[in-house]
Parts: sequence; structure tokens; C-alpha cells
Amino acid sequence: MTTSPTDIGSYWLASCDDDLTPRPALAKDETVDVAILGGGFSGLWTAYFLLQQDPDLSIAIVERQFCGFGASGRNGGWCSPRFPINPSALTRRFGTATARAMLVAQQAMVGEVGRICEAEGIDAHFNPVGVLTLARSAEQLPSLRQSFDAYGKLGMADGCELLDAKQAQDAVHATDVHGGMRLRAGGTIHPGRLVRGLARVLERRGAKIYEGTEVLQTTGGMQPALVTSGGTIRARRAVLLAGEAFLTGLPDYRRRLIPMASTIMLTAPLSAEQWDKVGWAGGECLSSYVHTTNYLTRTADGRILFGSRGAPYRYGSDMCERALRENANFGWIRERLLEWWPSLEGVEFTHQWAGYLGIPRDWLPTVHFDPVQRIGHSYGYTGHGVITSAICARALTAEVIGRAPSAEAPPYLRRNAPNWEVEPLRWAGIRYVQNAFLRMDIAEAAGKSQPIDASLAKKLGEP
Ligand SMILES: Cc1cc2nc3c(=O)[nH]c(=O)nc-3n(C[C@H](O)[C@H](O)[C@H](O)COP(=O)(O)OP(=O)(O)OC[C@H]3O[C@@H](n4cnc5c(N)ncnc54)[C@H](O)[C@@H]3O)c2cc1C
Repeated sequence: MTTSPTDIGSYWLASCDDDLTPRPALAKDETVDVAILGGGFSGLWTAYFLLQQDPDLSIAIVERQFCGFGASGRNGGWCSPRFPINPSALTRRFGTATARAMLVAQQAMVGEVGRICEAEGIDAHFNPVGVLTLARSAEQLPSLRQSFDAYGKLGMADGCELLDAKQAQDAVHATDVHGGMRLRAGGTIHPGRLVRGLARVLERRGAKIYEGTEVLQTTGGMQPALVTSGGTIRARRAVLLAGEAFLTGLPDYRRRLIPMASTIMLTAPLSAEQWDKVGWAGGECLSSYVHTTNYLTRTADGRILFGSRGAPYRYGSDMCERALRENANFGWIRERLLEWWPSLEGVEFTHQWAGYLGIPRDWLPTVHFDPVQRIGHSYGYTGHGVITSAICARALTAEVIGRAPSAEAPPYLRRNAPNWEVEPLRWAGIRYVQNAFLRMDIAEAAGKSQPIDASLAKKLGEP
């Protein structure tokens, strides 16, 4: 079923300044060097880096809806310097050197995305403002300290700053600010302009993009192929799958990741007086330590984007667009924003939307290319894919071109992602954790003690 950009409601698509009329669908069989499923960041960055390595490659990108339809056109606009797994857990799992290398790569890619935008003339409002995480209760202070210490242990303290209550309150005039931590790396971007801009750059370099074309099946071998609703695209070199959460619709990927909904509300541009009361003059990527997650972005035209938990997980990883919108917690998010800044009571909200991100069982992305079947994939970035997708796309490019990674292979490369549980266990477990995280945040906000099952929920629901 076709979904129009207007139906999605994303401000980023509405303000991307690109013609969103769908490109022609595939109408006949074709043969190219590389065929890619997915017109989001993963697919487009992979095509971009492939053409950078070998400008003569013929590449076709097949997109079921339109470029930017998925999470890439709906996200929070954070160029996050963080990884889905927090620094202490990353160190525990992979050791200091690997954890550090992964975080350094993530931070470096933020600057590189900014440089690519500039070099390619993509006006994506990249702003290297850093990240500011607030403790909005005394209970959140230990997490702040732990995070700061973890960066210190990795030798990355230079890029961090711990703020006391007054410094944090001066930076953002929100209620209940007890402290904060600043990461100098990181920035904000207009993801709609980035995803649509990348697609235009690729077309100028000769890549073909077919929209409104669904991949129904993949075949591997000497000449792998994408079997689509409009014909078969055979590939001389590689078939690459870059569908993130939507990959769960393909038989081999059903349990490799789950689609998790996230919801966003956006205000009208605030007046100068409103901004005076809000503070946040630095426009950093802003959040606090809540279990249901929150991410706030100050847009280039002076709006506040507030993102948080989305609709409950649906049985069998169902990704119904209508249910996503109907079950999104727009009212709940509006209340959270007013809780941060009661002075914004009565503020106009102009846009609201929701989208699916992909969460692997162990929260680690996967980049893999099978040189025999000639099929590769990159997926599983949780809520950090604006930057992680570019890192993984570069790694996938190196695999396809046949170059060994320069340093020791990162743990997400050439691995088989663990499966999620079978249904109905999966549904029951995820719904339980979603519900428990909400109860934990409500208890904390009310100054009550944590629910009796808080440790169990954290064990099940955190990486
Ligand atoms: C609400 C929300 C907020 C987020 N906020 C942030 C943030 O602030 N910072 C950050 O770093 N990350 C954020 N993320 C995550 C980030 O947006 C994603 O990780 C990233 O965009 C994934 O890019 P992708 O190209 O892999 O997937 P997508 O953008 O989802 O693209 C996949 C594409 O594949 C297409 N496709 C799927 N199946 C088929 C098929 N069978 N045939 C043809 N085409 C197909 C889809 O139509 C889609 O366009 C957020 C995600 C959401 C949903």
C-alpha cells in the first residue's frame, strides 16, 4: 500500500525543499553491478561510498515507497556521537580498546557527515552543537556520574564536561534540573534534507533509483538478484539489503531485529520571549535519563522537537502504518514537554508523527557480506542510525569492494546477529518491559520508590 509523505506527518519531509513526486517504478528486468534494497540512509550512504571508491559502478536502489519514507525521514535529527550501547556496557562487552575505537569512529563520523554535506552542496542545516544530558531528579545523578566516569576510563574525558545543578540550569531553564553532562561531539541535522539530498547526489553520479517498487524476494549466487514488483534486478557484484526495521518482512530477517516505534511532537517556532524562558541557547541535542527515552532537538527555524516512546510493540513485529499513528502517544509527549517547561502552556504544536527503528537482540548493529552468495546487509542501529548507518555503510562498502578493514574488525562486522525470541514470548517480553519502564518513570517523577520489578525490567530491557 502506498503511503504519501503528507500521511506520515513528518516535518522533515514537509520542509525538505525537494520534489517528493515518486520517481518512476522499475518496469522491466535489469542488470547492474550492485542492487540495493532501501532508500534510507543505509542504502544511500552505501551507494555513496561505493561510488566514491569506484565511480564506474552501476548501482540501482529499489525503494518500496520513496526515499526517506522510513526512519531516515522521520527521526529526531540528532547526529549522535553515542552508540546504542552505553560506554560502560560497551567496555564490559568488548574491552577498552574496542569500545574506545567504536566511540571515536562514531564521533569522527559526525564531523564527516557535516563535511560531506558541505562538499556535496546538501543544505541539511548541520550544526555541531554537541549533546547535553540532564539529570532531572536526584535519582538520575548516579547515571550521569557513571557515564562521565566511563568516558574518563576510555581516555575520552577531554570531550566531556560534568555540570552541577546551577550550570545545567543556566544552560537549560527546565524544571527539576539537578545536573548535566555535556559531550562536545555530536550535532543536529535536518534528516529530510540529508536523505533527499543524498538521493539527488547519487542520481547525478549515475545511480538509478526506483521508487514505488517492492522487493519481494532475494536470490544469491554468481548473479544475485532482487525480485521486485516491477521486474528482476540482477547484480554482477552484490545485492545489499538496507531496510532496517522493515527487513523483518523478509523471511530470513523476521527474528534478527524488532521494529520499535518512537513518537515525535513538534512546536511552532517559538518567540524570542519564549526562548528566553526555555534557555537552551546552545541548541544541543538534549535529553534526560528516563527509561522511556526522550530526545529533544532545537530546529534551525526555532521549534522544539520532543521525541519519546512510541506505540506498543505489535505481535509478530507487525508494522501497520495506521496502527502506528493511532497508537502513538502524542498526548503523553505534549504533557512531557510542558512538564519540562510549564511556561510553554498553550504553545502550538504543528506536526506530529511516529516511525519504526530497528532493535537487534543484543543492541549491536550487523554488517555482513557473504562473498559466495554475494548478498550483504547492514542494519540494527537502534536510535543512533543517522551516524551509525554511515559508519556501517562504509564498512559494507569495504566488504563489497574486497578491502580488509584498516584496523581490527569492529564487533559488528561479519557476524550473525542473535535471534529475538519466538512469538508469543517475544511479544510478552517486550510488552512487559515497555510497561515496566513506563511505571518506573512515573514512580520516579512522583518521587515514589521504584517498582519491585525494576531490576528485572532493566536486566531484560537494557543492553
Ligand atoms: C522516531 C524516530 C526517531 C529517531 N531519532 C534518531 C535520532 O535523532 N538520531 C539518530 O541517529 N537516529 C534516530 N533514529 C534512528 C534512525 O532514524 C535510523 O536508524 C536510520 O534512519 C535507519 O536508516 P535505514 O536506511 O537503515 O532505514 P530506513 O530509513 O527505515 O529505510 C529503510 C527503507 O527501506 C525500504 N524498504 C523496506 N523494505 C523494502 C522492500 N521489501 N522493498 C523495497 N524497499 C523496502 C523502506 O521503505 C525504507 O524507506 C530515529 C528513528 C525513529 C523512527
